[in-house]
Amino acid sequence: MTQSFIQRSEVVFELHCRDVGFDCPGVVRGQTKEEVLRQAAEHAARVHETKITPEVAAKVEGLIRETGS
Ligand SMILES: [Zn+2]
Repeated sequence: MTQSFIQRSEVVFELHCRDVGFDCPGVVRGQTKEEVLRQAAEHAARVHETKITPEVAAKVEGLIRETGS
């Protein structure tokens, strides 16, 4: 018996800062949405001096894209 599903370990999630509303070329990537959110929070704090609130995080999560490469 072989497994009928394919492990998608290559899947990467990414978030374009521009999509959030900043005029910024920044892109954060991670293997999970949580990872992307954590990096986005760091990026927002460091570059934009903005704190990601739970409300914003929920919105941002919807903007995270899935990419295969
Ligand atoms: Zn940015």
